[in-house]
Amino acid sequence: MLSTLLLAWYDAHGRVLPFRGTKDPYRIWLSEIMLQQTRTETVGAYYTRFLERFPDVFSLAAAPEQDVLKCWEGLGYYSRARNLHRAAKQVAEKYHGTFPADLDALRALPGVGDYTAAAVASIAFDLPAPAMDGNLTRVLSRVHGVREDVGMPSVKRRLLELAQSDMPETRCGDFNQALMDLGATVCTPGTPDCAACSLRLLCDAYKAGDADDLPIKAAAKPPLELSVAVALVTCRDKIWMIQRKETLLKNLWVYLLVENTGNPADMEKALKSAGIRAAFQGTLGTARHVFTHRVWNMTLYHYIAENPACREGRFVTLSEMRALPLPTAMRAARERAEKLLGE
Ligand code: SF4
Repeated sequence: MLSTLLLAWYDAHGRVLPFRGTKDPYRIWLSEIMLQQTRTETVGAYYTRFLERFPDVFSLAAAPEQDVLKCWEGLGYYSRARNLHRAAKQVAEKYHGTFPADLDALRALPGVGDYTAAAVASIAFDLPAPAMDGNLTRVLSRVHGVREDVGMPSVKRRLLELAQSDMPETRCGDFNQALMDLGATVCTPGTPDCAACSLRLLCDAYKAGDADDLPIKAAAKPPLELSVAVALVTCRDKIWMIQRKETLLKNLWVYLLVENTGNPADMEKALKSAGIRAAFQGTLGTARHVFTHRVWNMTLYHYIAENPACREGRFVTLSEMRALPLPTAMRAARERAEKLLGE
């Protein structure tokens, strides 16, 4: 009953999105990885551009990681791009370029969790796997009147079982996408548009009048605020950059960063350990970047190096800098760097 109503609604009102209407697991997988932590409206342009550069799993598997990161630039959460690349290599080598039509095998690919495996399995292969994202959780907790913290493992399991029992025998991918669309356009967070909802007569929260209060979620921990000193070290027409080794923003190119400091002596130490002799010129302003679990409150500084010698990283020209993959967190610093090098 629920699936019949839902699919009829989907056929009439489902969203038209650039990555819909395909059964190609490569394209579905790519779009689902991009959609993790990124808004649907943002993904469209990146998806099209990425496919032009890497039209199939073999072209992605054969590319250097730096090219993949460059193509991902601006989307953030770069571990997704690194895992995408590793997974493409596995599919090319282990499965000869054919994605496995198996939930466990999909889940074993790097960067593919329960949600993504279920989305690919259901949309590409019509397997009955509920893709439990925020939308499905919200709609199903309202329809079935689940009034417990949806972050609890036992409640998650219950919602998954409810989704499985609601799932039709065919059109499993459409069922998932219909719930996602209903959650994104009708059964939205806060106050849903119940008057426009085709599931109204089945919906427990609608009958109880408490849809606004569902789903129940324990308050999330606020992200950690950190102060970060960013030094733009120039030497004539070049600027010093380094490839990150840390897990956060790994393999992307950044300027000299010193985390969690307001002390200029820490910057001097960092310069010294990179083998750079440079003189402080002044402050270039501030910038803020919010990650999932931390916030960087950045102060930007300008240094001029005596010569382009360094033990770590390298001095690059403006055009070389533009060719490197830089994270969005460096956007403000990059703008200042472009000004400094352009002057
Ligand atoms: S009736 Fe309202 S609360 Fe229930 S599924 Fe529809 S929009 Fe959501």
